[in-house]
Amino acid sequence: MIIKEDLEIKNYTTYKIGGKVKKVYFPETQAEFTELLRTLKNYIVLGSCSNVIISSNGYSGNIILTTKLNQFEIRGTKVFASCGVKGPLIAQKTCDAGLSGFEFMIGFPGSIGGDVSMNAGAHGQTISDNLISCCVFNKKTKEIEYKTHQEMNFSYRNSLLHSGEYILLYAEFDLKKAPVEEIKNLIARNLEFRKNVQPSLACPNAGSVFKNPQNDSAGRLLDKAGVKTFENANVKVWENHANFIVNKGDASSEDVLELMVRMFNAVKEQYTIELEPEVIFIGDKTKKEEELCNILYKKKQR
Ligand SMILES: Cc1cc2nc3c(=O)[nH]c(=O)nc-3n(C[C@H](O)[C@H](O)[C@H](O)COP(=O)(O)OP(=O)(O)OC[C@H]3O[C@@H](n4cnc5c(N)ncnc54)[C@H](O)[C@@H]3O)c2cc1C
Repeated sequence: MIIKEDLEIKNYTTYKIGGKVKKVYFPETQAEFTELLRTLKNYIVLGSCSNVIISSNGYSGNIILTTKLNQFEIRGTKVFASCGVKGPLIAQKTCDAGLSGFEFMIGFPGSIGGDVSMNAGAHGQTISDNLISCCVFNKKTKEIEYKTHQEMNFSYRNSLLHSGEYILLYAEFDLKKAPVEEIKNLIARNLEFRKNVQPSLACPNAGSVFKNPQNDSAGRLLDKAGVKTFENANVKVWENHANFIVNKGDASSEDVLELMVRMFNAVKEQYTIELEPEVIFIGDKTKKEEELCNILYKKKQR
């Protein structure tokens, strides 16, 4: 297994932000992965790092990146996918197999682990729609357990994994049979739609910054609050959609948090609504980051 010390993590993230991490592990088999989970004292498991802001100040703990845990199997309508499998790849493979249900995953880079943790969704589909069960590692007991769909406690951008007590090893799905042409058309429609409402990864970003409040859209509120013109030297709100922050090239985690606080305050002042961040902050905070996170993250972070 590859282990990198003092790794500059930014190039592994879609924001292209993040300082040095003490140790980063890249397990290649489930056996290596569970051995790490059993033996390491403190660690954070990440997949494609497409929903995180990692502190430019770095992280003095361990990060386990699941990118090499990319095995999957399609058996009839069943799909078994390890936590590191990338959404766009499995969307393509299940399309080829005439299986419908993963078309929404084509347009964003999440891994199965991140997608299940976040209960990722788009275009009216979510990862939990077709999920049958999960094989997880229980951090407290250090045992492997199987969780049913119901036990995964899925809700909007939330699941049992979000508490940090369980790590996804792999998940089982049951998709629906459909003509390949139909699935291909839906995938093409999803990709076309995204072109206009989402920055491509050529403009480093981490997807939606804030979650939608109940019965409303964070993008709509942010737009009405006039944030589309907000920017500083290194980051800006994306001009086509107010719920995206783009790294202009050399942004730090502090730059992103500062802009997030400006966006948060603009909506709070106009609508008395406190938006909840969808992106997760990770790493050793500077004093300034501590202050900014205290404003943004009211719910306990892991
Ligand atoms: C251009 C772009 C578009 C996007 N569009 C969408 C969209 O339409 N819909 C949407 O829902 N999201 C979207 N996102 C956000 C992001 O891709 C999703 O949240 C995705 O599910 C995150 O997966 P990841 O592997 O990158 O997770 P990471 O960012 O690596 O981690 C996110 C969280 O998941 C946890 N996690 C990761 N792997 C595991 C595991 N094996 N076990 C337990 N916990 C784990 C991490 O600890 C962390 O808390 C977009 C992002 C980008 C950059």
